Amino acid sequence: MGRILVHICCAPDAVYFLKRLRQDFPEDEIVGFFYDPNIHPYEEYRLRYVETERTCRQLGIKLIEGEYDLEDWLIKVKGLEDEPERGRRCSVCFDYRLERSARLAKELGCEAMTTTLLMSPKKSIPQLKESGEKVSERYGVKFLALDYRKGGGTQEMFRISKDLEIYQQDYCGCIYGLFKQKEGEIFWDLVSFKGRRPGSKEETLFVKEVRTFAETLGLPVREFEFPFLGWKVLEGGVWVDREAVPSFVVPFSQSVRGRVRANVERRIGNVLYLSKQFIRIVLLEDFRDQPVETIRGLTNPTFLVPAEWEERLKNSRVEVTLRTEFREERSRDLFVGSEEAEEIIGIPADTLQDGRGYTKGFLEDLLRREEESIKTGKLAVVLIGAHSLGRPGQRFFEEVTGRRIDRVLPYPS
Ligand code: SF4
Repeated sequence: MGRILVHICCAPDAVYFLKRLRQDFPEDEIVGFFYDPNIHPYEEYRLRYVETERTCRQLGIKLIEGEYDLEDWLIKVKGLEDEPERGRRCSVCFDYRLERSARLAKELGCEAMTTTLLMSPKKSIPQLKESGEKVSERYGVKFLALDYRKGGGTQEMFRISKDLEIYQQDYCGCIYGLFKQKEGEIFWDLVSFKGRRPGSKEETLFVKEVRTFAETLGLPVREFEFPFLGWKVLEGGVWVDREAVPSFVVPFSQSVRGRVRANVERRIGNVLYLSKQFIRIVLLEDFRDQPVETIRGLTNPTFLVPAEWEERLKNSRVEVTLRTEFREERSRDLFVGSEEAEEIIGIPADTLQDGRGYTKGFLEDLLRREEESIKTGKLAVVLIGAHSLGRPGQRFFEEVTGRRIDRVLPYPS
């Protein structure tokens, strides 16, 4: 019996490829190697890795994670930033990843190596073959240029990935591909916000990590992806006498035009109204961000501010900037348990603007503690996506399953 090293680029490309490889080489041991320092940003890298790990575990294939040496990769492709996909940058990128894979194959005593990149419909098989054969020859390892795309392989790959609810990326991986393939729609891919904002990569990663854990306990899991009206703050703040006032922007606030200088015109209850652009400042004794219960259209530009700032706000000129954006987004709910369970509890998957939210450790403890109740149908748990922006994930779940979530845990204090 021999051993084959498989360089793995992502779970969708790997899942069908590995199954076919196992059928064609039943006597050989298969070892996976996730080595993809080209992937940008790091959250995307983690997401693809977590999904690859889940896939390999389901198939019983050992997986080794390579180093995330992004800087070295960037140096290697310097000068080739504007190359099209399948161009010279991709050749360098293949050489880089496959060379390291061939070296590992040699170290592990593998007779052959291959790559799941061969499965990717957008990649050139001759280009991959040339790269793979060139680098593997140096280490005395055979390169298997397998074409599992033909004969309906590509369609089968998409079908299996969908069935297994594997995360499907929408660009090849590197920052240059991201610029070209997403045609300018890349701002949200590259900006990290504190915590796990609704619909973010961080939120998806969290859901996938909890899913992986639930599966290791043998619990039934299912994901529900849903669209929602996303809203984000691009920039914004409140100042008095040039000093920044601690603040959070209330979700669905509209932008203000320019940098506004205004006075407090009146106070009603705990709300200060400024003299321009319908700006509101809500004074809070207990200063923290708050989720919104219902999806709204535009609302007045509204800030939450600690109550102790009231006198300074009233006695000075207040400066405000705010630029927000609405866009179509996607998030997902993770359902753990049976849809016939006696009780369903919900837990927000996202975090508030101040970073408050549930941790992976909390979810793991809960699932471990309730393992029996979940398996026997007494309890089910839904990790709800985008919860702080008007509960779209809860509404979606309840609509598609016809089940109400009996209790949703509040965001931790
Ligand atoms: S487009 Fe894909 S294959 Fe080409 S350089 Fe970027 S990550 Fe590598």
